[in-house]
Amino acid sequence: MASDNEFAVETRATNITWHRPAVGRRDKEKLLSQRGILLWFTGLSASGKSTIAHALEHELYRTGYLTAVLDGDNIRHGLNRDLGFSHREREENIRRIGEVAKLFTENGVITMTAFISPFRSDRDKIRASLGEGNFIEIHVKCPLEELQRRDPKGLYKKALAGEVREFTGISSPYEEPLHPEITLDTSLLSPDECVQALLRLLREWKVLNRCASPGGAGNATANIAPRSPS
Ligand code: ADP
Repeated sequence: MASDNEFAVETRATNITWHRPAVGRRDKEKLLSQRGILLWFTGLSASGKSTIAHALEHELYRTGYLTAVLDGDNIRHGLNRDLGFSHREREENIRRIGEVAKLFTENGVITMTAFISPFRSDRDKIRASLGEGNFIEIHVKCPLEELQRRDPKGLYKKALAGEVREFTGISSPYEEPLHPEITLDTSLLSPDECVQALLRLLREWKVLNRCASPGGAGNATANIAPRSPS
């Protein structure tokens, strides 16, 4: 279990300097005909974050865009395997994921994260760190009754029986986003409808800069859009 001062809040190292890269973000965005962006999916377990993120990734891949999905438990097997589920450890879990996602985004990749990320302040810190126009918060919403009905991993059943402690939505709080860029109610929308809504948003935000070409990758254009949505 992590103690309160185990994780560095500020940079501890001294004598470090930031190396200015020879190939910048804009160069990579131009190469890829896309804009790096972080799509932050948040919502209760089984709301559909992972399903939608992977379906969107598949659609973007099919049309010639480079993406990365950071998803759920995989990260806890590697980067964050030293972290548990206390408030402090959940906070550190999300902070590290935010930093990794930022690295991908700054290299021009359309980056998606699918984590419950229950605390508003953690999400807001990542939003602030990425900067205006680089962060899209997606609230994947679904009523608790429907989530308990889905229960793909049997976790709600276990949580309600007291077999899983600190389970978000049951015995641990979930703070809904106050101003998400988009809310997807998966009790009303199919996964495909969610993907279509996100593609519309990405076009509005000028993230996708290839000419549309049905059924495959379009022609690359050198036209890189401004960072903030128009
Ligand atoms: P999360 O990543 O939020 O924990 P998952 O994507 O792993 O959720 O699981 C969501 C479950 O709900 C899947 O079994 C999926 O098939 C189902 N589901 C039903 N309707 C939807 C929908 N509209 N969008 C996403 N998932 C849905």
